Amino acid sequence: MTIGFIGLGNMGLPMAQNLLRSGHTLKVFDLSSSAVSTAEQDGAIVMSSAAEAVEGSAIVITMLPGDQQVLDLYLAKHGLLSHGNGSTLFVDCSTVAATTSQTIAVQADAMGTSMIDAPVSGGTVGAAAATLTFMVGGPDAAFQRVQPVLKNMGANVFHAGAKVGDGQLAKACNNMLLAALMIGTSEALQLGADNGLDIAKLTEIMRQSSGDNWVLNKYHPWPGEMPAAPASHDYEPGFMVKLMTKDLGLAMQTALASGTPTPLGAMARSIYAQHGRDGWDEKDFSSVLTRFSDNK
Ligand code: NAD
Repeated sequence: MTIGFIGLGNMGLPMAQNLLRSGHTLKVFDLSSSAVSTAEQDGAIVMSSAAEAVEGSAIVITMLPGDQQVLDLYLAKHGLLSHGNGSTLFVDCSTVAATTSQTIAVQADAMGTSMIDAPVSGGTVGAAAATLTFMVGGPDAAFQRVQPVLKNMGANVFHAGAKVGDGQLAKACNNMLLAALMIGTSEALQLGADNGLDIAKLTEIMRQSSGDNWVLNKYHPWPGEMPAAPASHDYEPGFMVKLMTKDLGLAMQTALASGTPTPLGAMARSIYAQHGRDGWDEKDFSSVLTRFSDNK
């Protein structure tokens, strides 16, 4: 299949590489020349604009930082939607507000094309290993159409709901929990270390106990504890603090709209916002551990 792919960052590039490995023809675009040249070496066709990546593509995937970039790219006068047609399916895998996805889908419909949301979980390791979890929001027919393509990049493809934006709602819930898990795991590890416990041993004890969680198993925040984790590479992302702060903002917007109390989510948003202001925005979100240690 010919697929357009726009946004070749920490997540988009390995996702695109997996589509290439699966035998698809990829028309790619990113503002970063180093990202596109890596994709080109792997066999992608580099386009000179995002709009060009739409022409002749049955499915167009976008993987951009946040709401502003997604809205600008889709809705601009000569934006993505204006280059789609009745057989184009736009699939936004970025994490944005559910309302952003819905706004674009309504506009797509009015312009005779279609758009659904399919945000992901699993991080850069999952993107590279094609083990991401996709959360798709949109009508069943569109889900059925995109599912085989997403399976080339992920281990789990969920149909979160029939409304565009339902994938984003599931993603907001997940990342709010992830932030709380990362902060909680970090402070527990630091508490152990400050009281003389060995981190490897404490990790193993918690993994076999009721504190076991994804952070301990897949994304350990303690430097040197897990060789592939960003913590062992000077907290190079990975998943940047500024993106986690954005996601927590989305969760808070959602909570406000539904009147849901989310005290830990609110605290996590403040902790990450402060962490970013202290100079960590471009580092991995597991660097929040340094807020509890004395080696900042
Ligand atoms: P990133 O900043 O590394 O990549 C974004 C890419 O989009 C960059 O290469 C940038 O040049 C490109 N871009 C921005 N504006 C563009 C435009 N107008 N046209 C073309 N390209 C443009 O971000 P990322 O970590 O890859 O994350 C992408 C999305 O996935 C975000 O919404 C993030 O919240 C979400 N996400 C990230 C992770 C993670 O672990 N990094 C995990 C799950 C979800």
